[in-house]
Amino acid sequence: EVALRKAKQLGRSRRYAFETDDAEFARLREDMRLSMELSVEIGDALERGEFEAFFQPLFRPSNGRIVGAEALARWRHPSRGLVSPAVFIPPLERSGAIVALDLAIFEQCCRFLRDRLDKGAVIVPLNCNFSRLHMRNDAFPETVKSIVDGFGVPIELLELELTENIVMEDLERAERLCRRLKDLGFRIAIDDFGSGYSSLGMLQNLPIDEVKIDQLFFHRDLSDFRNATVVYSMANIAKVLGLVVVCEGIETAEQVEFVKGIGCDIAQGFFFSRPVDEASFGKLLERARAHEPLTRSPLRKEDAR
Ligand code: C2E
Ligand code: MG
Ligand code: MG
Repeated sequence: EVALRKAKQLGRSRRYAFETDDAEFARLREDMRLSMELSVEIGDALERGEFEAFFQPLFRPSNGRIVGAEALARWRHPSRGLVSPAVFIPPLERSGAIVALDLAIFEQCCRFLRDRLDKGAVIVPLNCNFSRLHMRNDAFPETVKSIVDGFGVPIELLELELTENIVMEDLERAERLCRRLKDLGFRIAIDDFGSGYSSLGMLQNLPIDEVKIDQLFFHRDLSDFRNATVVYSMANIAKVLGLVVVCEGIETAEQVEFVKGIGCDIAQGFFFSRPVDEASFGKLLERARAHEPLTRSPLRKEDAR
């Protein structure tokens, strides 16, 4: 089961073998055990409002400035504390309740921005993740638009993340949906790029703004010429196509240096900050008061000072 899940994460028609003493195997097995144990509680937890958005800053590798954040769902379980998405997302996807979770997290982001706009506080654009299940719903673009409008937040402050796998499932449908979202004014990022089936045609044809290169590439030995070349080439193609390049999972100073070298616009990872709760993220923004002006598009494309 664990190997099957891992293989599916990697894309279709993949093979994955686990060693039983593998640390990742142990972690995944624990996530699945917990997931099964908690699956009955998860639906109610959503109604009880036990899920909340944490925020992980997106930063410019050249100067360490915050230029955005990604909202990541956490379940504040009454007795277990914080539960990770690896545990609650698979059962929520099976039941379809992930749709409600995504919208709840999205709403929290809009409320957060509204609040800070009212206070005149520092804001940054926020990225939100959306499950494959939204793709089946033609009204999805209008649904998210009406949430943003309800809060009166400028639409360009919200960026929607769709994973590469979602998009590749039905490229034509994805193209239609992305076009509609773009027409409404949203920014769109392709998440986990390079981790499954990717296609260069996808980058060429989809009306997207940003590519988030999957963290697996940065956790390889980057002194190996082949590893470095693969990720350099991905970044380069995205840049030539005019897309903003985000590098995920940046944990060390060496990785920061590496991504600077490949022309990465924005980095995300534990090196700068782990995902933090809303209050801590607010404080982080206060400390960053001297940051760049906070409108996204010119900011994200401009070369860092
Ligand atoms: P993602 O969208 O690719 O998010 C990035 C994940 O990488 C997050 O895991 C983040 O905590 C982790 N990460 C960030 N920096 C580092 C680093 O330097 N090293 C390592 N090892 N990991 C890092 P998280 O929060 O556990 O979320 C996992 C996945 O769950 C997300 O991957 C996303 O696909 C999904 N997810 C999270 N929240 C939501 C949500 O509200 N809706 C939907 N549909 N999916 C969500
Ligand atoms: Mg994401
Ligand atoms: Mg990702």
